[in-house]
Amino acid sequence: MLNKKSIKDINVAGKTILLRADFNVPLSGHNVTDDTRIRAVLPTLEYLIKHNAKVVMASHLGRPKGEYKPELKLDPVADRLSELLGRPVAKAGRVRGPEVNEMIEKLKEGELLLLENVRFESGEEKNDPELAARLTDKVDLFVNDAFGTAHRAHASTSGVAAHVPAVAGLLMKKEIETLSRCLEDPPRPMVAILGGAKVSDKINVIRRFLELADNLLIGGGMANTFLAAQGYDLKNSFYEKEQLDLARSILEESGSCRCRFALPDDLVATAELKDNSPYEIVKPDRVPDQLMAVDIGPESAARFGRVVSDAGMVVWNGPLGVFETPPFHKGTETVARAVAESRAYSIAGGGDLVAALEALSLSSQFSFISTGGGAALEFWEGKKLPGIEVLEDK
Ligand code: ADP
Ligand code: MG
Repeated sequence: MLNKKSIKDINVAGKTILLRADFNVPLSGHNVTDDTRIRAVLPTLEYLIKHNAKVVMASHLGRPKGEYKPELKLDPVADRLSELLGRPVAKAGRVRGPEVNEMIEKLKEGELLLLENVRFESGEEKNDPELAARLTDKVDLFVNDAFGTAHRAHASTSGVAAHVPAVAGLLMKKEIETLSRCLEDPPRPMVAILGGAKVSDKINVIRRFLELADNLLIGGGMANTFLAAQGYDLKNSFYEKEQLDLARSILEESGSCRCRFALPDDLVATAELKDNSPYEIVKPDRVPDQLMAVDIGPESAARFGRVVSDAGMVVWNGPLGVFETPPFHKGTETVARAVAESRAYSIAGGGDLVAALEALSLSSQFSFISTGGGAALEFWEGKKLPGIEVLEDK
């Protein structure tokens, strides 16, 4: 298993720390509408404050693509952080420069400074060494707590480690430890559930779970692609025509592996994707003309639920239907309730799945909710994540 140093393995007292966090939160004007990602970094911040570090925080927000976008400034994050911590959080107007360096030099032990959105700098996503050098001009140590961005080699997630020692924050440490549990001797049976829109986003993770899991349950748009690959005519359903060959070869692989691979055998089909639009429950070979499959059907959801109830571990990425449009959240809900009621150690990841579980008030009943979507997938695939690779080994 990855054994990276964390802030608990070093002396942080009196040190000036560059903390990369993932404060990429949804905003409505100046209001943070979901502060889950901010809360996730609080244990690290509280630890650093308590141990007398001086903390300079960096994060991205949205996709400003190297340009200054006033609506993507991090001021609302600084305000929310300050509320949550009950202490002031200074906010720099820029990512770097003499004024910023001056603010950093003035920090006292236990004080916090939030830099401006790092993606206002064109060098951030290019992993520009010059930006990485400037970000670390006045700091002693780099702490990476941005698991959600760890699969990106950017200046503030990886480049900075060329200049100062780098260790994991407590969230990063927890993500690495928890997500590793399904890769190394998981409690069995281990059930993997994959949903979401596209097979193409998750091919490698499908293959990996075919090796690792005892059961692999597939739903969502992804299931449509597999069903189409089996020859069903899904009429107006979303599926990936360019991935049919790949889906066929995965189906073939699944025939010869120990893992039991399951697709839905009933579907919820509708003519129009709008709230409470009329629908039919159909078999994959009976999807009526003009209709599209938007959720797994009730029989499949109950069957998936039964598999989950016997699990020792459940790992789940991606919703099983178009959960944003009720009642097409029902398949996801039925299976999520089965997970909540099971004795399994349960891990959920993926922005949309986590949003669905939040909306159903079920996320607190999962053992662990990952803050990584793409990062968690790459971690499970076994890829080396640049933001983790740069951290010192124990
Ligand atoms: P996550 O963010 O959890 O990894 P994805 O981004 O891969 O999930 O996919 C989420 C999207 O998949 C949602 O917007 C959902 O509406 C869509 N989706 C799920 N099932 C279907 C379906 N049957 N047809 C079309 N889209 C679907
Ligand atoms: Mg998504």
